[in-house]
Amino acid sequence: MLAEYAVRESRGRRYPEPAHSYRNDFQRDRDRIIHSRAFRRLEAKTQVFTRRYSDHFRNRLTHTIEVAQIARTIATQLNLNVDLVEALALVHDVGHPPFGHAGEQALDRAMREHGSFFGDTEIGFDHNLHALRIVEDFELRYPSFRGLNLTFEIREGIIKHSRDYDPAQYPELSEYLLNLRPPLEAQLIDLADEIAYNTADLDDGYEAHLLSLDQILDGIPIFAEFYGQANKQYPNALEKLKFNEALRHVLDRLVTDLIEHTGMQIAGAGIRSLEDVRALPNRLVLFSTEVEEERHGIKQFLHTNLYFSETLSPDKIDAERVIGELFEFWMANPESLPPSYQEKAREESLPRVICDYIAGMTDNFIHQQHVKHCGKNRVGSARKI
Ligand code: MG
Repeated sequence: MLAEYAVRESRGRRYPEPAHSYRNDFQRDRDRIIHSRAFRRLEAKTQVFTRRYSDHFRNRLTHTIEVAQIARTIATQLNLNVDLVEALALVHDVGHPPFGHAGEQALDRAMREHGSFFGDTEIGFDHNLHALRIVEDFELRYPSFRGLNLTFEIREGIIKHSRDYDPAQYPELSEYLLNLRPPLEAQLIDLADEIAYNTADLDDGYEAHLLSLDQILDGIPIFAEFYGQANKQYPNALEKLKFNEALRHVLDRLVTDLIEHTGMQIAGAGIRSLEDVRALPNRLVLFSTEVEEERHGIKQFLHTNLYFSETLSPDKIDAERVIGELFEFWMANPESLPPSYQEKAREESLPRVICDYIAGMTDNFIHQQHVKHCGKNRVGSARKI
């Protein structure tokens, strides 16, 4: 039973296609995303920890699957369109470059140094815009059109799930109704993403011994509360199992609060239709004030103690060096780009084409390219833990 404010049907695809006999439009979009190259590459892209740490830490693919799981749960409880939500969750990170956040920053810096534009707007690297280019242009699977020919709602959600774009600044994106809010199905992706990585990064950070239990207990009061309960209930259990129990309760608290508070927001705003959702000046998918503070606290803790920790910095230096040097190499030697990218460079600016090429790479592939073109071995400074 879909809520009256859920997305009921699609506005359609860029190139009209006959309906499928037993899959709806959003199920087909989900399947197209799963069968794309960009989706498969997520497996070899860093989320937070590069492969040198462990094979069982999250990569972008397993992170994506966790986001989809959390997002489906939230959508089901709010009677939203679960097929649309699942497809949006599965596609939400395909625009990310290799090397996680450090790779994104390095690519952004290289783009700004070379003066890149999106239409008339000078921009660096934007992973949402890049994801749109992937599904619209780079994926080649069908003889009758470029890209995956996804529905309007998926393309709109790719652009708008995590931020608003100023219509005056991005006239090229005007078809995506930039002056309206995205449907709730897209709004919830951003917070499902946060819930997924805030909890997963605590887990991996603890497993990697980069975060100690005491540090987490000191820094995150809500975790300490749940850990205390687990300790009381299972005094003789292994520390890691009590840790898991506490983390599970943190995740559940975030998800439950998001469902309940969003439900209250929807009721409070008198929302009766998708048009009502779109017309509001603000987004409706929100945590309560209390849990929003807890979410913010966890995020701050991870920034201070994990993302900017000394131990992870060799990976960041590595990422910046590899991306920076390869970018410069192809700027000076565009004839060394693959033929299809050389062809693109006749229509688009060279920095944009190089950026697209690099952003599509996996961690492994970009290291190979670096050795091949910059003649250097992989940076060995990273300490094995
Ligand atoms: Mg994500």
